[in-house]
Amino acid sequence: MLRIVSRGRKVQRCCWSEQRRWLSQPGVAQKQGNDVVLGVPRLPSFDYSPPPYNGPAADEILMKRKKFLSPSMFYFYQKPLNLVHGKMQYLYDDKGRRYLDAFGGIATVSCGHCHPEVVEAIVEQTKRLQHSTILYLNPAITDFAEALASRMPGDLKVVFFTNSGTEANELAIMMARLYTGCQDIISLRNAYHGNAGATMGATAQCNWKFNVVQTGVHHAMNPDPYRGVFGSDGEKYAKDVEDLIQFGTSGNVAAFISEAIQGVGGIVELAPDYLPAVYKSIKKAGGLCIADEVQAGFSRTGSHFWGFENHGVIPDIVTMAKGIGNGIPLGAVVTTPDIAEVLTRHNYFNTFGGNPVCTAAGHAVLRVVEREGLQANAHTVGSYLKHRLIALKDKHQIIGDVRGRGLMLGVELVTDREEKTPARVEIVHVMEQMKDLGVLIGKGGLYGNVFRITPPLCFSKDDADFLVDVMDYVMSKM
Ligand code: PMP
Repeated sequence: MLRIVSRGRKVQRCCWSEQRRWLSQPGVAQKQGNDVVLGVPRLPSFDYSPPPYNGPAADEILMKRKKFLSPSMFYFYQKPLNLVHGKMQYLYDDKGRRYLDAFGGIATVSCGHCHPEVVEAIVEQTKRLQHSTILYLNPAITDFAEALASRMPGDLKVVFFTNSGTEANELAIMMARLYTGCQDIISLRNAYHGNAGATMGATAQCNWKFNVVQTGVHHAMNPDPYRGVFGSDGEKYAKDVEDLIQFGTSGNVAAFISEAIQGVGGIVELAPDYLPAVYKSIKKAGGLCIADEVQAGFSRTGSHFWGFENHGVIPDIVTMAKGIGNGIPLGAVVTTPDIAEVLTRHNYFNTFGGNPVCTAAGHAVLRVVEREGLQANAHTVGSYLKHRLIALKDKHQIIGDVRGRGLMLGVELVTDREEKTPARVEIVHVMEQMKDLGVLIGKGGLYGNVFRITPPLCFSKDDADFLVDVMDYVMSKM
């Protein structure tokens, strides 16, 4: 066994496969006697040059942003990046420097920045016609609706298009209230569902100030296997929902809404057996089950196309957005014909939700995800990445937990593993240093101490290695 020496600091044993991986990267590691001496990890090669950038500098943009945009907007990094170009899983700043995008997959792109097939679909449809979704017929809209419905289980066959995830969840909650004639909604603590009235009510993230109080919204105990009081016993947490129905409502509820894996909340996988038990209680109370697939849907979890499928349940209403348009504003609600019928009593319409350009983009994304085998890639690369992150946890005490599925992974940092003390300051330091070395990673969780890894689904094994090597390198120097 060789020793691995990271720039003269931490020294540990290095197994054969690890040694071979390090030595196969020219300039990154060198064998010196019995040591493998690590240098700075390098970005995987990528044969692409972005066009030159001639726009304003970062300082000028920041100044304008502070002056003319919402004071509640926040940004990552002490000196925010001015990103001006993207190609697949990489982003380029104004100086042409390339970064690995390990976060943008849920924020915007599922199949890769500026994917040529999606760009072409948008341009072609824009040249032909852009109009509203209502009033006239257009094949782009119905073709995508049909394709989306075909990806749904059971009787989930009617699609309502929206412009965002918030709108999709607002509509789902409203439909549930109209369908059941009930007002009460149950959501999970630490959930995020959007930024309008009902969705901010259902969002229970007081720490991040995302929540606003709404009558009729009840927040159930979060079935969080790492921090929750019942560990991974999903059925025990599910009892809290039963109690809420019994003691907090008239005995009937309109809906239960949850993500399959909480995204903003810090990649929290709901404890096993939780959702089936809760869905049963909700149905018994006459309510509907809403699956918020805004982050976990569209292949991200790798093993399944939809996040809820990992839990063996079929919701009554499914909502989605973000990656489904690969950066184009697009959301959707899919439900059964029976539930959809309630909106005929209220003449619901949405001027732009699912307009021809956006649905052409959505349809192209679906085609790319299928043709390029991105679900299988999320599974293979995600499993590999998780495996490497778990190995990193053995090495660095600061890593308290590694979790998630496919390309939706979380790394929770703590200063004390026993106490699970959130490493709030340390995570900012690691994140900043990772950016300097070329990795853009997300951050979230109730305490803001969880790395969120949700890259475009075209992320490769080399990218995964680079990300972990950079994290390792930074943590070794702390
Ligand atoms: N649901 C979930 C799970 C989300 O993560 C988000 C956005 N972070 C939303 C809904 C709201 O989506 P949007 O920002 O497109 O309104």
